[in-house]
Amino acid sequence: MSIKDRLLQVQQTIPKQVTLVAVSKTMPNSAILEAYEAGQRHFGENKVQELTEKQAALPNDIKWHFIGHLQSNKVKFIAPFVDLIEGVDSLKLLKEINKQALKNNRIQRCLLQFFIADEETKFGLNREEAAELIQAAKNESLKAVEFCGVMGMATYTDNEDQIKSEFRQLKSIFDELKTDFFSDNAAFQIISMGMSGDYSLAIAEGSNQVRIGSTIFGVRVYNT
Ligand SMILES: *Cc1c(COP(=O)(O)O)cnc(C)c1O
Repeated sequence: MSIKDRLLQVQQTIPKQVTLVAVSKTMPNSAILEAYEAGQRHFGENKVQELTEKQAALPNDIKWHFIGHLQSNKVKFIAPFVDLIEGVDSLKLLKEINKQALKNNRIQRCLLQFFIADEETKFGLNREEAAELIQAAKNESLKAVEFCGVMGMATYTDNEDQIKSEFRQLKSIFDELKTDFFSDNAAFQIISMGMSGDYSLAIAEGSNQVRIGSTIFGVRVYNT
């Protein structure tokens, strides 16, 4: 099946109000263009250098999502163009994003990344840390940062009950933060959860943004 056919098939399984981010990490520009020509505009990448190279070579109206762990010293490379930074998990990173956004005369849209999985390797905040981070950002008046919602990854497991409960946890964190900090802020509205293996469960638990790679582009081959 072609990328276009797989993309259309995925689109048919997700409701209209759910944003589909096509995760194109490791995929060549030709694959991204094929999805682009089928109408896809949101793409996700997790390596700064790969993202900047692709951005320079591909159409300007692509909305690039940075979905990986972002090091503060690399923010400057993506700050001129990145649509959404999905992985904010520290004040240090947030301050640098604010600084670079000011330099570029932009308001940088960000998601707070949460640790919901039963795994040791994943980055992210818990509820308390997030509340502290938001409060600190207010105190520092980081005016060029816009909080747009939350992002998280469930445990890589066959146990659907566990996955559902992790997604439910992220939805409840979102609701709590919305009430406590963003009730009058329409921008805070994204719940980014769900990947190829679990996006249907995520949507059932309240996701409105899914990040799907291998189901659209095929299996990734890493050469590093
Ligand atoms: C790679 C990646 C995805 C997509 O994974 P697939 O299983 O290929 O759909 C989604 N989110 C993040 C953060 C990723 O790194």
